Amino acid sequence: MSTIAENIAKVGARIREAAQASGRDSSQVGLLAVSKTKPAAAIREAHAAGLCDFGENYLQEALEKQAELSDLPLVWHFIGPIQSNKTRPIAEHFAWVHSVDRLKIAQRLSEQRPAGLPPLNICLQVNVSLEPSKSGCLPEELPALAQAVAQLPNIRLRGLMAIPEPTEDVARQHAAFAQLRQLRDDLNLGLDSLSMGMSDDLEAAIGEGATWVRIGSALFGARSYANT
Ligand SMILES: *Cc1c(COP(=O)(O)O)cnc(C)c1O
Repeated sequence: MSTIAENIAKVGARIREAAQASGRDSSQVGLLAVSKTKPAAAIREAHAAGLCDFGENYLQEALEKQAELSDLPLVWHFIGPIQSNKTRPIAEHFAWVHSVDRLKIAQRLSEQRPAGLPPLNICLQVNVSLEPSKSGCLPEELPALAQAVAQLPNIRLRGLMAIPEPTEDVARQHAAFAQLRQLRDDLNLGLDSLSMGMSDDLEAAIGEGATWVRIGSALFGARSYANT
């Protein structure tokens, strides 16, 4: 069994190799550690080994871990589906939200962002694989959504996020990530972020311009319950 520190070193090496292979500087690729279902102690261990950005999908679970880890200077990212009655604690307790897919959610996050905090960093989630059950706005809805979100006062629109349909076909992985990058570039809003790539496809995502890879199981081991 490998330790979290060993896993971080392995993932770091994968990121550096993928960046080098596509002529990018690995400092442009942020490692977002996805700690859902994992205990606060695992996050503490990952922080001691050098990580500071952590992604959580479930609000209640995230708030409990944040309270336990309040002595550490961690940067919290919300990456899960958002119900509109849960926006206030998200606006109050996170630095980034990667999973905004409709205007109402963005408006509420902007209204509810506390005055003393910097603007909330937002990525719009896009359904690039066109799976009907998946979250994310449709590619054709994106331009109007992005224009409207970019006007909101207390959030800062940074880029796009996607969770493409899993596939071992590397060419298809590249195609989905390239589509997200193209959508971002076509918006012409100067957005600097692409949140894409997970444990099994981070190389393809980095090759297509990822600025955040969201890595769970390769850092913390397999998760113990299904659908997470
Ligand atoms: C769980 C999750 C991840 C991490 O997935 P792994 O395959 O464990 O790396 C990344 N992004 C989102 C949105 C997730 O829900």
